[in-house]
Order: sequence, then structure tokens, then C-alpha cells
Amino acid sequence: MSVVVPGTVNVEEGTVVKAPNVPCLDGFRLTEALTRALNRPAILENDANAAAVGEMWQGAGRGHHSIVCVTLGTGLGGGIVLDGKLWRGADGSAAEIGHMCVDPFGGVACGCGSRGCLEVYASATAIVRMTREARPRHPESVLRTGESMTSEDVYRAGLKGDELALEVFRRMGVYLGIGLANLINILNPEMIVIGGGVVNAWELFEKHMHQQVAERAFPLPAANVKIVPAQCGDDAGLIGAAWLAINR
Ligand SMILES: [Zn+2]
Repeated sequence: MSVVVPGTVNVEEGTVVKAPNVPCLDGFRLTEALTRALNRPAILENDANAAAVGEMWQGAGRGHHSIVCVTLGTGLGGGIVLDGKLWRGADGSAAEIGHMCVDPFGGVACGCGSRGCLEVYASATAIVRMTREARPRHPESVLRTGESMTSEDVYRAGLKGDELALEVFRRMGVYLGIGLANLINILNPEMIVIGGGVVNAWELFEKHMHQQVAERAFPLPAANVKIVPAQCGDDAGLIGAAWLAINR
């Protein structure tokens, strides 16, 4: 049995180290509890790491061995596979791509305690916040009012050419592209797979993302890296969890 958790996990000990969105799990020995309750072995993994493995096994990353997976959801999750192996880091906290700083000066505060993290510009939550912030500049926008606006509403407005929505996805694409250029220069991956619900808006941010990569990353790795939408959808983590259980 394989379980994925949205937070930092200690794979060896089967412990949830820190799960900001499920704080009741912090410090919990989840593997031990599950093994005892269900009487079968269990392994634990971070959800974004599992999604990266899922995309490499059954999704956009098939046939590749060095991939970076970025999941644009409520937050921004990251998974790094190098030479076919998940890179978890010395403490299991590696690949926190959402907390790469892309705007140190006057950057928006992030839940992690830092400022200007990629996640506060490239995630569903960020899209809604940036849309609200930009409203005064776009009194003509269909998004100018409404408290319960979602990132999907912004996407739909963008498809119809709404200037406010297009500005938000342009900003998101620029920041995401800066983050990807850093990853390309550091890791030289074969492929970057972008998943999560926000990837549906690919056509609205793709151009701006690629432009930043072209301007900022080294020319050779930038030309060779494939930046593609994920293919496993919401199942990426599940599929990765299955692979990890099979190949434990
Ligand atoms: Zn952060």
C-alpha cells in the first residue's frame, strides 16, 4: 500500500514531517498506523513527488529519465526525477519548487514565511488574488465584481479575450518562466512536465513562459528541454504511488 501526503514526509521512518494544509498530520507516524490498522505494509510519499513519478511512468515523461514536474494547483508542487530516481534531498524536503523566490523586493507574503515565492504568482490561488488586485485597472472586465470568483472563471474570461484575465495569465506565465529558467540552468532536465488544474489555461500563459525561458536560461539546455503539459491529470499522484509500491 502506498499513501501520498501534501507535505514533507520522512520516507524511511514513514512519518509526516510537516503538512501545512493538513496540520493534524504533523509528526504523525502514518505508515506505522496504517500498517497496524490494515495489517499490510505501507509506504509514504509526498504528493508532488508521486505525481512526477506517475508522469514519468505513464504520462508525458514516458521514456525520459531526468524530468522536473510542476503541479499548478491550490499551491505549486514540485517533483524532481534525476537518472530515473526521485530526488528527495538530505531531509526529504527537496523539490519545493513553489517556494523558489522569484520576486525578492516587495514580493507577496507566502504561507511558508518567505516572500515572493513562485507559488504566490503561479497557482490557482495566485490567479484569483492577482485578478482581484488588478480589478481597479480594468473597470470594463467581466471579472470586475464577484466575491466567489475562481481561477476557472478567470480562464474562461481569458478565452473570450478579457484584458484583465489576459494580464493575470501573462504575469503568471512570466513568473513561471523565470522559475523554469532557474531549474533548467541548475538541473539541465530532459523535460519539464506541468500539471494541475491551472495547466488547462496553457494557451493563455505558454507564450509568456517560453519567452522568459528563452531570455534567461542557457541557450543549449533551453533549446533541448521539452516543456509540456502533463497527461495523467488528477491521477498522476495515484499512478506514481502505484509505481512506488511496485518498485519499493
Ligand atoms: Zn513560500
